[in-house]
Amino acid sequence: MYSTPRRRLLGAALALPFVSIHAASGQTLPLTPVCGEKPPPTPAQTPGPFYTPDSPRRTSLVEPGAGGERLVVSGFVLSPRCTPLANALLDFWHCDTAGDYDNSGFRYRGHLFADAQGRYRLETIVPGEYPGRTRHIHVKVQAPGGRVLTTQLYFPDDPRNRSDWIYRPELTMRVTRESGRRDARFDFVVT
Ligand code: FE
Repeated sequence: MYSTPRRRLLGAALALPFVSIHAASGQTLPLTPVCGEKPPPTPAQTPGPFYTPDSPRRTSLVEPGAGGERLVVSGFVLSPRCTPLANALLDFWHCDTAGDYDNSGFRYRGHLFADAQGRYRLETIVPGEYPGRTRHIHVKVQAPGGRVLTTQLYFPDDPRNRSDWIYRPELTMRVTRESGRRDARFDFVVT
């Protein structure tokens, strides 16, 4: 009985650094994903014509003075058994607010790694649209030693999803609007 308050205090002290680190980074994902025993693999999609290899490693694609609405894309990289895949590689690219890709440099291109719990987090802006496509973000995902999954992510509120022949509902992010930005969540399942 005597030790209970002490134990509580110790627990609180241990928990504090974790909480504050997460609050500081804006990371709100839990430590473990919530998914069924066998989540379906994330469907592959065409990379399109605008992939550039060797993108810089960075967690933010936001340019100084960038216009556009801020967007945070986060989630887990998981195995088909729903286990987090630590250190998975994610290579993102998307067009600017005018619908143009940077094909000579690396604007709105970058790669990052999932953490030890399989979590990733990218800061960027909401991409524009270009003729013939609904709004989307391209990404390649690869667990260490695994296959490369090339796919695209979509926004739930874009009316052009219905007329885009590449769009697939399974690749739609869950998007919530925070103050001045959109938070998008997507969990990848790769082999
Ligand atoms: Fe594209």
